[in-house]
Amino acid sequence: MGIQENIQSIRRRMDAAACAAGRRPEDILLVGASKMNSAAACREAAAAGIDALGENRVQELLEKYEQGAYEGVPLHFIGHLQRNKVRQIIGKVALIHSVSSLELLTEIDRQAEKHGLRQPVLLEVNIGREESKSGFLPEALFDAAAAARDFAHVEVQGIMAIPPAELEEHGNLPYFQQVYALYIDINCKLYHNGFKYLSMGMSDDFEDAIAAGANMVRVGSAIFGARNYQK
Ligand SMILES: *Cc1c(COP(=O)(O)O)cnc(C)c1O
Repeated sequence: MGIQENIQSIRRRMDAAACAAGRRPEDILLVGASKMNSAAACREAAAAGIDALGENRVQELLEKYEQGAYEGVPLHFIGHLQRNKVRQIIGKVALIHSVSSLELLTEIDRQAEKHGLRQPVLLEVNIGREESKSGFLPEALFDAAAAARDFAHVEVQGIMAIPPAELEEHGNLPYFQQVYALYIDINCKLYHNGFKYLSMGMSDDFEDAIAAGANMVRVGSAIFGARNYQK
């Protein structure tokens, strides 16, 4: 199946999951995780009406940006971001999903100020407490979200999470529910319910993420096919 058919089929499954959860399908956004896929594949996804494309690596993003991969579609940064790379993506990305420290936020704020803009970001929570992942630990997220309000050139629009790779079906549902509880609490107590996005769920579990309250899912292989790490 092609990219367009894959997107249509994922959309249908997203809509069904939204409906089953008593939510409106149009409130849930599909971000294509396009890492390791060509600029042509990105354009195909954009033409098929994907809501945004998300990249993981700055170098790859810049190369594909030059090739016009993201024309007509919002570009997101979803991977681990190093502080010294921030300046290369500010002005290009509509949303950074993966803010994992206040030091990184400080640099985003600094570069956004230079560009005269306010950068939308999400705070990443390391919900599985995994050494291998970045993100704020769940118990540190509230204080980080409070501190983040003081940055003039950053706008925190919500929370993002990548739970542990679960082998069991529905294995991530409890993590998604924990993230949702944090999202609701922080949104109410610190942000006057002004949050827009709860970004969680990937190819294997986006329906469970939607059931638990996600309104932005990041789907890669189910749209673009399996990634070839040998290349
Ligand atoms: C690659 C990636 C995804 C999508 O993963 P799939 O399992 O291919 O759907 C989502 N989020 C992030 C941060 C990713 O790096």
